[in-house]
Amino acid sequence: MSHAYSRPDELLSDLGLDPSCYPIAYPNRFPLRVPRGYAARMRYGDPNDPLLRQVLPLISESESVPGYSADPVGDLASQSGNGLLQKYRGRALVVTTGACAVHCRYCFRRDFPYADNTATRSGILSVMRTLGADAELSEVILSGGDPLSLSDQRLADWLNALGGLSQLRQIRLHTRTAVVLPERITPALLQLLSNSPVPIVVVVHANHAQEIDTQVGDRLKQLREHCQFVLNQSVLLRGINNSVSALAALSERLFACGTLPYYLHQLDRAAGVAHFEVADDEATRLIDQLAARLPGYLVPRLVREVAGAPAKQSIAPGQHNAGTESSLGFN
Ligand SMILES: *Cc1c(COP(=O)(O)O)cnc(C)c1O
Ligand code: SF4
Repeated sequence: MSHAYSRPDELLSDLGLDPSCYPIAYPNRFPLRVPRGYAARMRYGDPNDPLLRQVLPLISESESVPGYSADPVGDLASQSGNGLLQKYRGRALVVTTGACAVHCRYCFRRDFPYADNTATRSGILSVMRTLGADAELSEVILSGGDPLSLSDQRLADWLNALGGLSQLRQIRLHTRTAVVLPERITPALLQLLSNSPVPIVVVVHANHAQEIDTQVGDRLKQLREHCQFVLNQSVLLRGINNSVSALAALSERLFACGTLPYYLHQLDRAAGVAHFEVADDEATRLIDQLAARLPGYLVPRLVREVAGAPAKQSIAPGQHNAGTESSLGFN
């Protein structure tokens, strides 16, 4: 992580691109962060590369667009302190860290006040007290940020603490690190996951087949061998994966690595991300075409997160709700 690119001009010139051709920004908050290995999967000299487009900060991020806000999915209303978010019955999500291996420009938590809402080392105890009192709980999701930004020791602390909750049926890890920094999936981490007292479901986050090179694919297969299940969630992103061919290639590539597509999220309307949005009618058309081309288990469910709703909302073909307030993210 410490070797990651942090300057847009350096990244662009290493890709043979002229920084002056882009309306790039140098934000102080949520600056560019790109692992070297992820940048190596970008096509040299291609200004529209789908990986580059996910991480390059543009001036347009600072435009204010009506309907796009700092807390698009009502996270602040759902958090009970110490990083615990409870929106859905039986599941609880813990923001374990604010750190990520990559900074995705479309991130719905780009403005999340991590400093006040992260489960710190001492916070584990109070989170555990809340979770222990919830008899309906069956699954805890370790999220962030990215839980694989934590050290193996911190992660082990979480898994062991959660192992003490007799009502848990599985623990979920929401992580993009496996895709952007596969080096993090070490033998020690795999051992840690397979030793968990509660079965682990890993939900990775890839948006484009080009993100999954041989190394990433190998690590996904290893995760598959050491965990109960590996699923993928993606965000539908204009100019990056809003074509049937891109979505089909992603599903097929994931399957070849032992990973099934889970959700395709409509963008959460976080401030600064409007230029990535794909309209609902285009999104449902894409899913229809994908379903006509692939086996059903390779078609992700198109959803959006609506603040206050009891679950992620399906956007079914022909019944898209154009007036909905907001959408969803991932990790
Ligand atoms: C998305 C999300 C979950 C998980 O929802 P699933 O539909 O089970 O994947 C749980 N808690 C919160 C707060 C979430 O945002
Ligand atoms: S939380 Fe997920 S989407 Fe947001 S920057 Fe981190 S890895 Fe990217």
